[in-house]
Amino acid sequence: MAVSFPEKNAVERGTLYLVATPIGNMADLSSRALKILSEVDFIAAEDTRNSGLMLSRLNISKPMVSYHEHNRRSRGPVIADRLEAGESCALVTDAGTPAISDPGEDLVRLCAERGIPVTAVPGCCAAVTALSLSGISTVRFAFEGFLPASGRERGDRLNELKSEPRTLILYEAPHRLRQTLSDLYDALGNRSAALCRELTKLNEEIERLPLGDAVERYRDKEPRGEYVLVIEGLPVSEEQADYPENIAAHVALLEDGGLSRMDAIKAVAKARGVKKNEIYNAISRKEDTQ
Ligand code: SAM
Repeated sequence: MAVSFPEKNAVERGTLYLVATPIGNMADLSSRALKILSEVDFIAAEDTRNSGLMLSRLNISKPMVSYHEHNRRSRGPVIADRLEAGESCALVTDAGTPAISDPGEDLVRLCAERGIPVTAVPGCCAAVTALSLSGISTVRFAFEGFLPASGRERGDRLNELKSEPRTLILYEAPHRLRQTLSDLYDALGNRSAALCRELTKLNEEIERLPLGDAVERYRDKEPRGEYVLVIEGLPVSEEQADYPENIAAHVALLEDGGLSRMDAIKAVAKARGVKKNEIYNAISRKEDTQ
C-alpha cells in the first residue's frame, strides 16, 4: 500500500498507549499493536493473568502491573508517576478497546490532567463490530454499555431509553440475557433488534429479530457466550417527518403507540430538537381549540 503521510510508529518516552486487543480472534491483533506491546517499558493490564497468556502466545515478555476497577484509584497515580519519569506504558484490558466499558477512562483523564501524552492503537471494539453487522440504522447511535443491574437505577435507565431515537447498543453477559431482553421488550415494545454473540469467534451468531421474538426464542435457548444487543431507536413515523409543523399530532401519535404523555413529549423534543416548553404550548393550543 502506498503511504503518502507520516505514520506514528515509534514508541515515545513518557507516553501511555491504549492498545486494543482482539475480542475473540487473535488474528485481529494489529501489527502496530504487536510492535507497541513489544517495545513499551511496561504493560498495565486489567487482568495480568489473561493478558500474560496473550503476551506469551505472542512471544512477548514484559513487566506488567495490574490496573482494574478495584485498584484504579491507587494504581493510576503510580502509573502516571512512571510515565512522567519517562517510561512508556501500554494499557490493555481483557478484550477490545481500553476505556470502553472497562478500566482506562480514569487513567486517560489523569494523564490528560498531568500533561502526559496519551495515544491510541485502535482495533476491535465489540460495540462497533455488532453495530456494523446489525442491519439496523448506523446513522446515529447511542452506546449504553451495561444496563444498571437492578433496582430503581435500572428502571430509570430503561425509561430514559424509551424516547431515544438513536439506535441503541448494549452489552450483556449470558446469565443476565433473558432478564434484559424481557425488560427491554417491556420498556421499548417490539422493536427490531440484533443479538450479536461470540463475535469473531467460531460460534459467532447474529440473530436479527423483533424483541418479542427474542424473548420467546430464549425461553428455550440457553444463552451462551458474550452478547452485544443492537436495538432500533424510537421509530419516527413518516407522517411526522412529512409534517414537521404538527407537533401536537406527533405527540398524539407516540401516545397512541403506548408512550406516556411525558415520554412522548420528551421523544418529540429530542426528535425535533426543540424545547419541551414548545411542545407543551403546542399541545395546549390544540386542546384549547378542541
Ligand atoms: N472494551 C471492550 C470493547 O471494546 O468492546 C468491552 C469490554 S466489556 C467489559 C465486555 C462486554 O463486551 C461483554 O460482556 C460483551 O457484552 C461484549 N463483548 C466482548 N467481546 C465480545 C464478543 N466477542 N462478542 C460479543 N460481545 C462481546
